[in-house]
Amino acid sequence: MENYNELINKQKTFFNTGKTKDIEFRLEALQKLRSAIKKHENDLLKALKDDLNKSEFDAYITEIGVLLEEIRFTLKHLRSWAKPEKVRTPLTHIGSRSFILSDPYGVALIISPWNYPFQLAIAPLIGAIAAGNCAIIKPSELTPRTSELLAQIIAETFPSEYISAVLGGVETSQALLNERVDYIFFTGSVQVGKVIMEAASKNLTPVTLELGGKSPCVVHEDANIKLAAKRIAWGKFINAGQTCVAPDYLYIHKNIKREFLTELQKAIVELYGELPLENDDYTHIVSKKHYDRLCSFLNNGDLFLGGKTRERELVIEPTVLTNITWQDPVMEDEIFGPILPVLEYSSLPEIIEGIHEHPNPLALYLFTEDRKVQEEILHHITFGGGCINDTVYHLASPHLPFGGVGNSGTGSYHGKASFDTFSHKKSILKQTNTFDIPFRYPNMKNGLKRIKLFLK
Ligand code: NAD
Repeated sequence: MENYNELINKQKTFFNTGKTKDIEFRLEALQKLRSAIKKHENDLLKALKDDLNKSEFDAYITEIGVLLEEIRFTLKHLRSWAKPEKVRTPLTHIGSRSFILSDPYGVALIISPWNYPFQLAIAPLIGAIAAGNCAIIKPSELTPRTSELLAQIIAETFPSEYISAVLGGVETSQALLNERVDYIFFTGSVQVGKVIMEAASKNLTPVTLELGGKSPCVVHEDANIKLAAKRIAWGKFINAGQTCVAPDYLYIHKNIKREFLTELQKAIVELYGELPLENDDYTHIVSKKHYDRLCSFLNNGDLFLGGKTRERELVIEPTVLTNITWQDPVMEDEIFGPILPVLEYSSLPEIIEGIHEHPNPLALYLFTEDRKVQEEILHHITFGGGCINDTVYHLASPHLPFGGVGNSGTGSYHGKASFDTFSHKKSILKQTNTFDIPFRYPNMKNGLKRIKLFLK
């Protein structure tokens, strides 16, 4: 196992020079990152095509455009985010002033997954840079072309004592986790999230865990069926379902099930054609292991649509399974592929109960115009975040902190939330020396009596 002690120490030494805390330095680093992404746009599109057969459209929107927008937003707001935040002073502290400094942690370790291999490594990096940290990225080993290119871009753009990318698999990740870093930002599976938190606990290192889970998508009886079908087909099958916030399964009101499924079929055909296996713009499954796991679900319930596969290219048609229950294997864990199981319901408590029996979802989607139904679902179910009358879209707003809760994750990022995630909030009280309130001292006559007037 390699030893990353030297790299981390080098970054700590650089961090301690204070250079990374300078706002101009941070802004310049973000500008350099933006230029590097633009310069390598075509290489990135090619690498993503090689690794996952991502289409140019999907790759640009979900891996490049979204990062350029995040950098633009951060550049625009960073000066104001980084200012000390003045807060009020209570009567008991009269004479003093109080403020909160956003202080970088130091060396941040970013471990990322394969499904959006560039975006999910660089988006947290934007927050780490903005907050003034050094960073080490460990991208996924399952998308080797993109991860190699990412390492090349980082090496070309930044000195390694500031930002570095380390290539490798589980062992590399574990070797890095054996070292003492100042922050760990992990995106990946629930199972590995537990390993990360355990490793972090040895040094009491703060963590953000961006995990996954089964995200429900509820289509109520009053939903705009055509639009719902289109938005669900898009959110589920983009990247062949390999999206952490993709609708994992559908809960459809029984009165509209038939009509909805007809529209869903139309929407899927419109997006991917009659023969999705022949569609060169349709994303492939990342590995044989993931492909085999997904294929094992294809005989669950009844096959409504899709189901064809091609092993040579690791591709699976957009597939819809009906007559599914929570007892089917496809309902055990996050699917993370182009298979959409459909459960039906007749009353809201049924859904609420069904979801309560399982870990907190990362996302939840609800299609209804009815305010009462919206409130009921939002009020009764704990989940990371989501949309009403859409899927996945909340993820792309810099004004909405993105993250899970409990099993689906800890902490959040995007926009200002990224800056806050990578900043320690250092609270400072600046006391006056012009007078000294005497009651706090135990030798003051009647001190306690007077204190009680204030602390009631
Ligand atoms: P993963 O957990 O297998 O791997 C993620 C990273 O952890 C990789 O870099 C990998 O090398 C490393 N790793 C794997 N096993 C490890 C171990 N035992 N010890 C230390 N490091 C280890 O996840 P994945 O398969 O790459 O990604 C898919 C999962 O990620 C899904 O569950 C998905 O929901 C989740 N995800 C979440 C988000 C989010 O933002 N919440 C985004 C994308 C993916």
